[in-house]
Amino acid sequence: MGARGWRGARGSAPLIVALFALGCGADPTRRDLDHVLLITIDSLRADHLGSYGHPAKPTPVMDALAAGGTRFEHALTTCSVTGPAHASIFTGLYPPRHAMLGNAWRLDSAHRTVAERFDHAGYETAAFVSSAVVSSVSGLDRGFTTYDQAFLKDVTFERTLQRRGGATVDAMLAWLAEHAGSKTFVWLHLFDPHAPYDPPKDLWPKRRRRPATDSASLEAIYLKRRSVNAKTHKAIRDLYTGEVRFADRQIGRVIDFLESAGLRKDTLIVLTSDHGEELGEHWDFYEHNRSLFQGVLRVPLIVVDPRVEGGRRVEATVQLVDIAPTLLDLTGQFVDEQVDGRSLAKLVRGEPAPPPRDFAYAQSPDNPDYFHRGNSYAYLRGGSKVLMYGRGDPEVFDVSEDPGEQHNLHRVDDVEQAELLARAVTLREYLVGQSDGAHRHRVPLDGQRQRLQALGYAVPAAVENGTP
Ligand SMILES: [Zn+2]
Repeated sequence: MGARGWRGARGSAPLIVALFALGCGADPTRRDLDHVLLITIDSLRADHLGSYGHPAKPTPVMDALAAGGTRFEHALTTCSVTGPAHASIFTGLYPPRHAMLGNAWRLDSAHRTVAERFDHAGYETAAFVSSAVVSSVSGLDRGFTTYDQAFLKDVTFERTLQRRGGATVDAMLAWLAEHAGSKTFVWLHLFDPHAPYDPPKDLWPKRRRRPATDSASLEAIYLKRRSVNAKTHKAIRDLYTGEVRFADRQIGRVIDFLESAGLRKDTLIVLTSDHGEELGEHWDFYEHNRSLFQGVLRVPLIVVDPRVEGGRRVEATVQLVDIAPTLLDLTGQFVDEQVDGRSLAKLVRGEPAPPPRDFAYAQSPDNPDYFHRGNSYAYLRGGSKVLMYGRGDPEVFDVSEDPGEQHNLHRVDDVEQAELLARAVTLREYLVGQSDGAHRHRVPLDGQRQRLQALGYAVPAAVENGTP
């Protein structure tokens, strides 16, 4: 019995009886959970969930999860592309420290992943991924006994790049049905909201023509090689929303299975995204890799701990680096405080806790051509946001008053801004200083990188160590 139980029980016979009825005073909020399910839905903007304010409410399943769990209103990614952002989720480190600086980089084995921690703790570990970007070549497979990427085999080239969420969920549910009697740690990765925006027909917008939404076509809009009108912009956005609806359906299948198998009460669920998506708000740009605006930085984060009363909303700014410590903490494991992330367990439980930090940091992938302004990064503090570029002036936004980031407030003679910029530079220099070039690895230019290029990802030809 814990100390709190004895203090509460002293001199109170009915309470003692009640505590023994719970199993010798065991705190029901601290009982062990046998299953942990981490869901990342690639390229899912926070504001496309009904629970985050989308007026059409395209995500009833995820909204129900939020209603039964803890929803983090201000969760931000650490990088605008898939590989580095997932590496932050799994290591609890910002990109300069985990040193996976782009999709063509490999996570170094020096960094222990949360999957390895669960593996060592005796959980059966399995991942079900939907894109070549997070194939085992990325190193994100470390710690997973099962790494399901069957779609990469023996199908046509185009279809080797990704698979529909339905097929990924099929594979995951079959595995879970076999392993329900064990403790499990499962990562489910869905790729559907990622371009091309190609939802099943019943989720098409009610229009005759669907614009092309493959990466090359979307890129052409940005580069002004073709002009599109407002109707086309809307059609593209509606197709994206269709993919979000489809992903939500797939999550619904997972929840239905957990319910019918009686696993729901023993499953900790964390649902998030690796990054959001630009939908034409800045320079007619779609997708995510070039942008550090809030459409890309802000992701959903929903934690459903069945031991905790749901319906909680947390305002504190949190980041993907906080997920690994939170998973470990909520399952009673040691939390390494040397990582950048902090446990959100108290915030999940509604206990008093300070926010994990008073700033947020995110960066572009390592590619000097992004925005033609060199490597860029974002620093947020309070309601202010700084975008720093390798070349050219920084931009400053008040994201509380101007969430669409339409008004650059940068002024060289503003003392408060000067302090903000100095903080941003200091943090960046600290993080880069923590980086060790020995742990940076580009993936050789082989079939994997060719697949990435076909997906629309820029893969630098030079095989060299770059700067974060
Ligand atoms: Zn992604």
